[in-house]
Amino acid sequence: MNFAHILLSSMKGMFPSLLWWSVPPLIPFIIAEQIWPVHKAPRWRDYGMNLLISLSSACLTLPLGIAAGLWSADVRNFLGWKPISFSFHTIGSVPTAGPALRILAMIFVPLFLHDFWFYWAHRIEHRVPVLWAFHRLHHSDELMNTSTWARDHFLQNAWRAFFSVFTLGLIIDLDFTEAGQAAFYSFMFLAGLSLFYHSAIRARLPWLDRILVTPQVHRIHHSIDPEHYNKNFADALPIFDIVFGTYHRPQKDEFPVTGLGAYFPAPRSIWSAQFGPLLAIGKMLMPKDNPQIEK
Ligand SMILES: [Zn+2]
Ligand SMILES: [Zn+2]
Repeated sequence: MNFAHILLSSMKGMFPSLLWWSVPPLIPFIIAEQIWPVHKAPRWRDYGMNLLISLSSACLTLPLGIAAGLWSADVRNFLGWKPISFSFHTIGSVPTAGPALRILAMIFVPLFLHDFWFYWAHRIEHRVPVLWAFHRLHHSDELMNTSTWARDHFLQNAWRAFFSVFTLGLIIDLDFTEAGQAAFYSFMFLAGLSLFYHSAIRARLPWLDRILVTPQVHRIHHSIDPEHYNKNFADALPIFDIVFGTYHRPQKDEFPVTGLGAYFPAPRSIWSAQFGPLLAIGKMLMPKDNPQIEK
C-alpha cells in the first residue's frame, strides 16, 4: 500500500472515533476538578482551547506519522538489519494465570519501552531550542487540567512518533496482530493515566508518587517556579526520573501554579497555537544580520 492509500483509509477510521475518544473520557475528571480544584477551577474556554489544539494536532500529525512508519520500514530494509523478534505467546502459555499475565505484559512491556524512549525525547525537548519552540505549547497552559493531556503541537507529536516508532521499529520485530493489541492495551492505560495526572484535582497520593506519575508529580513538571524546572519528565513511570536524577518528590502542600508566565503567555487562538511555533522556528533558522554586509 502506498502513502495516499494508507492516509485515506486511516482518515476514514480515525474521524468517527476521534470525537468519541476526545470528549467523553474527560467528563469524570472535569466534574472532579470543578468540585476539588487545586486553585481556581478551570473554565469552559480552557477546556475548549485544549480540545481544539488536540483535535487539530491529531489531523495534522496523521500524514507525518504514516510517513515516519513507512520510512522506518524502508531504512530497515536498506540496512538489511534483522530486528529482534518478540512475542507474548510464551507468557500466555503459563498454566491458569497465563491469559491475565499476557494482558498485563501487553500493557507494561510496551509501557516500559515507551517510557524509556519518552523520557529521553522529552528531556531533549527541554534542551534543544527548535524542539522547545513547539513543546512549550503544552507547558503554556496557565490552568493545567485534564484536557491538557493532549495539548500538543502537531510537530511535537510527529517528532515523538518518529523518535519512538522509528527507532523501536528498527530494533524490535513484533507480530502485527500482537503489536496492535499491545499498543491498544498500553495506550488505554497510558491515556487514562495522563488524563488523571494532568487533572487539577487537589489529590495527594504519596504512596504512589514513586510508582506511577500522579497529579502532584506532573504538576511539578508544569510548575512556574524555577526550582521545579526540568524535573519529572516521565510519562508513566517515575523510575526513569529517579534513575537519571531528575525526580522531585512533591511535598505535602506543594501544588504550584502552572504555565510559563510572561516568558510565553498561552496563545489565545488556534492559529497562534499551531502556527506561532512555526514562525518562532523560522526566525531561529533565519541568518542573523551581519553588520559587515554593505547595505
Ligand atoms: Zn515538558
Ligand atoms: Zn503535561
